[in-house]
Amino acid sequence: MPSTVRTLKLPSGEAVPVLGQGTWKMGEDRRHRADEVAALKLGLDLGITLIDTAEMYASGGAEEVVAEAVAGRRDETFLVSKVLPSNASRAGVKRACEASLKRLATDRIDLYLLHWPGSVPLSETVEAFEALKSQGKIRHWGVSNFDRDEMENLVSLPSGSNVQTNQVLYNLSRRGLEFDLAPWSRQRRIPLMAYSPVEQGALARNARLEAVAARHNATPAQIALAWVLMQDGVIAIPKAGRQEHVRQNAAALDIALTAEDLADLDRAFPPPTRKRGLEMI
Ligand code: NAP
Repeated sequence: MPSTVRTLKLPSGEAVPVLGQGTWKMGEDRRHRADEVAALKLGLDLGITLIDTAEMYASGGAEEVVAEAVAGRRDETFLVSKVLPSNASRAGVKRACEASLKRLATDRIDLYLLHWPGSVPLSETVEAFEALKSQGKIRHWGVSNFDRDEMENLVSLPSGSNVQTNQVLYNLSRRGLEFDLAPWSRQRRIPLMAYSPVEQGALARNARLEAVAARHNATPAQIALAWVLMQDGVIAIPKAGRQEHVRQNAAALDIALTAEDLADLDRAFPPPTRKRGLEMI
């Protein structure tokens, strides 16, 4: 991995890059497939070796795009995939994982997440994750879209404290979790994985980022991403189907926001002053 990509440690002690690549909306249209594969490969070349996908994305199509991008370089990548809550039973998790492994053309998923909380008892899903771990089909497991009370419940379950991350909606325009989920997670050294870090492209067009962007000769999207990347214990996973965006996202790692920048950003995107329910896209 090029030394430019910082890493952070999962609770297991394993280091992962703080910048990864998202894949939602990939694999939906065959005409874009070559560009999507090329974008992911460029990301790998730049050291952005964590790739986030899910059985849900393009009904498995995104996992197939990922398989093509990592072919021949599986060992340098850290693959994250997710199981739908409707598949979160003991038998369902096993089946879903095997189908994901097949589409990903690999023998193991590095980090397997429950996509959002559902109706299957969480203890059953955790047991299923632990069974997959002991079979070597997944190396770690985690959750997604869990608010603080749901995390507290999770860590109280047998093996629940083996959770390696909580993947959540977090960006300048979605700061609600800073009120309690973020400090709670930091204190327990459970990294948050920030999805939609540029608000699905909306922050790239946000005029309130332009002044800070101009000071760094950067784009608004790069400032939005640099801000997420400087949060302690946070991994960001922007999705970029265009190679130009992949390069810009990698370059955002080198943007050092100043105290003046942060004060301006806090004025434009105020931090929360009270508890709000965790937002989801
Ligand atoms: P996002 O990463 O905030 O935004 C993606 C959009 O921003 C794309 O249209 C992309 O354009 C554009 N973009 C990326 N980099 C850019 C740049 N440097 N300049 C300008 N535009 C840029 O939103 P997201 O895809 O929703 O979230 C990221 C990933 O998080 C997903 O792909 C998925 O893997 C994961 N996710 C997880 C959940 C969950 O429930 N766990 C929910 C949502 C997302 P191009 O593609 O044209 O380059």
